[in-house]
Amino acid sequence: MTFNYQAEQLHAEQCSLERLAQQFGTPLFVYSQQAILRNWQQFAAHWPAPHKLCYAVKANSNLAILQLLARHGAGFDIVSGGELARVLQAGGRAQDVVFSGVGKSHDEIAYALEQGIGCFNVESAAELERINDIAAAHQVIAPVSLRVNPDVDAQTHPYIATGLKANKFGIAMRDAKAVALKGQALKHIHMRGLDCHIGSQILTASPFLDAADRMLALVQELRAEGVAIDHLDMGGGIGIPYQHESQPDIASYLHILQQKAAAVGGLTLLLEPGRAIVGNAGVLLTKVEYLKPGEDKNFLLVDAGMNDLIRPALYQAYHDIVPVRQASGAASALVDVVGPVCETGDFFGHARHLSAQQGDFLAIMNAGAYGFTMASNYNTRPRAAEVLVQGDQATLIREREVLEDLWKGERLLPEERT
Ligand SMILES: *Cc1c(COP(=O)(O)O)cnc(C)c1O
Repeated sequence: MTFNYQAEQLHAEQCSLERLAQQFGTPLFVYSQQAILRNWQQFAAHWPAPHKLCYAVKANSNLAILQLLARHGAGFDIVSGGELARVLQAGGRAQDVVFSGVGKSHDEIAYALEQGIGCFNVESAAELERINDIAAAHQVIAPVSLRVNPDVDAQTHPYIATGLKANKFGIAMRDAKAVALKGQALKHIHMRGLDCHIGSQILTASPFLDAADRMLALVQELRAEGVAIDHLDMGGGIGIPYQHESQPDIASYLHILQQKAAAVGGLTLLLEPGRAIVGNAGVLLTKVEYLKPGEDKNFLLVDAGMNDLIRPALYQAYHDIVPVRQASGAASALVDVVGPVCETGDFFGHARHLSAQQGDFLAIMNAGAYGFTMASNYNTRPRAAEVLVQGDQATLIREREVLEDLWKGERLLPEERT
């Protein structure tokens, strides 16, 4: 394991987290390069070319992490023009990027076309027309995939959030044929493929395989109509165990997908994993500021807040919280671990058994995905620094924000006339 205790001190690879907390300050995100690459290999080793892996940038978009993945052959899945700019800044190539997202603006589409985007994952007929118009103005042909909503049965898989009829995402199954034929008829659209993304933090393969069956049936239906579908993108959404749940068997999922696609023939497969690549590869280090005994329970106030890691506040998400130094001497107590932000929702864990005293460091585990990327400056708090560890080397990959950063771009009013 990447994060483990050596001589009662929690380490990331060979780096002591207490040393990193002292050197770089807290709150601090620490990522392990070894863990990221190991996670990446879990996919790449079972995904031979021409199939492609497009890392979902929104999970963790630090330039160094994008650069690391690009060096290991990653393509990218983006949801904004800003994410495309990041990928390019990190040394990725636009042709290896697929552009997802339900609300692409005119400027984002134009920018993506100018850069030579690999594919637009189109979510509506209106978006298809907009892309066609902009491509015409740029005198180019836009490569397009249709994001279809496979409406995977919620009865059997209630945790799926984006793949149901009721969601804003994707084109309904029954409309897909009409939209594909429309795309086929538009002069500046090249209909390439189909894609779907049924949700996130899914811990079994069956909903993905149900979705694959529906998508493959649609591929055959569209081909029968003369639409030349040559790629199928099954999106991301593979979960990680946050609370010791059993982990999905990625190798077997990838093999079954390939078998299913081979039976249909002539398809390049794409996947867009995000969380599964970076989630367990990062921790958020935080310092205990105060112990606050309460009438019903005790609070452990830490220096990280919901602005640094919003998942508990946003989805009641569970994160393990562990002491960085194992034997601190303090007695184990039942505590709520809470941040300094002025919201009752600002918590990291309720009723946890923890022994900690003022000045101790804690590690909030599995904070590598949807941690820093969802961070904000709420309460005018500078965003945390980020460090990438490789063996016994630690590299600062994002400086902690300074106060001047917090009002960058803001203007005072002109002087009042007297
Ligand atoms: C968020 C997202 C992903 C990544 O999801 P994970 O759960 O992090 O794997 C992939 N594709 C699309 C379209 C997304 O919106």
